[in-house]
Amino acid sequence: MRIVDEAVGPYERVVWAHDPASGLQTIVAVHSTALGPAVGGCRFFPYPDQATATMDALRLADGMTFKSAAAGLDLGGGKAVIIGDPATAKTPELLTAFAKVLDLLDGEYYTAEDVGTSTADMDFLRTLTPFALGVSTRHGGCGDPSPYTARGVVAAMRAGWDASSGSASLDGARVVVQGTGKVGAEVARLAAADGARLFVADVDDARAGHLAAQVGGAVVAPDAALTTECEILSPCALGGVLSERSVPYLCCRMVCGGANNQLETDEASALLVARGIDYVPDFVANAGGIIAIAEERGGFDHDRAMALADGIGGVVRDIIAEARAEGESALTIARRRAARRLADAAV
Ligand code: NAD
Repeated sequence: MRIVDEAVGPYERVVWAHDPASGLQTIVAVHSTALGPAVGGCRFFPYPDQATATMDALRLADGMTFKSAAAGLDLGGGKAVIIGDPATAKTPELLTAFAKVLDLLDGEYYTAEDVGTSTADMDFLRTLTPFALGVSTRHGGCGDPSPYTARGVVAAMRAGWDASSGSASLDGARVVVQGTGKVGAEVARLAAADGARLFVADVDDARAGHLAAQVGGAVVAPDAALTTECEILSPCALGGVLSERSVPYLCCRMVCGGANNQLETDEASALLVARGIDYVPDFVANAGGIIAIAEERGGFDHDRAMALADGIGGVVRDIIAEARAEGESALTIARRRAARRLADAAV
């Protein structure tokens, strides 16, 4: 295997590995281990060239450092990418070669599932290296992280709603959940159990209908999800839903959901502030999954992982209190808090 392993700019370590025998071409970017070992998924994707793959690894690793720091986790940020079509290139030989790259990093980076990789891949990697997380429950892992993600989202929602309305529960609050997949469905169930009135939207009508029946809620059309009058909008489908085009039409008091990268631009965030809509930053609200995955390092315990996901509520409370004291948005404070934690760790 040919390996190039060096520090690149602010990245502590970037490893390029090419194993001609198995066809493995991977780039592992360790952005920061200042707060703990770098944890981030492995993206298996047919990148057109190595430069594009490297840029993606660097960008995603950076994002993981930030996300974990903002959520108060003692984890660093890293990401791996493997170049190729997972449908044809993902062989046991290739994953075995990838496990050797993980061993080379010796715990500075732990990989996990991402686009193009699965829990089954993590199970296989774990037979070869301790540095793969997100394995199935029968292998002592957390399995699907979505229930932990949803639990964290609802903890964040409750804390945000308490700060906004003074109500300790979601009782009577109208919550619109956009996307009724693994995260959204559980968010709806937990919010309903806390007394919320649910409105659910999905491009898959049957899925939305089934969930609405389960939670005693109503279905709204996918293109009406953002404009339905409610107290809390919970984006749990796609990124980029909060844009300069959509924010002027929102009919909610607060946004708190599980989807990644909800804000299309910082201007959309400024518009939310101008309209008096409280926004719980997505990278804080949806950190429950990474919390659960990281818990595997010390031996996974379901109840402890759930309790840690609940702890996101406390993080949101702190962020909102600081935002009010400083006259800033929760987003600005969450970003500042991440930067501060990283700066303190670097001293
Ligand atoms: P999923 O694929 O299970 O569910 C997504 C749902 O959204 C599907 O039911 C899909 O039909 C629906 N959808 C797609 N486009 C839509 C639209 N325009 N309007 C309404 N519904 C639409 O995915 P998931 O695991 O539930 O993840 C949801 C979001 O949360 C993603 O943005 C994901 O990146 C993010 N996220 C997930 C986790 C996790 O643990 N699964 C962790 C962090 C962040």
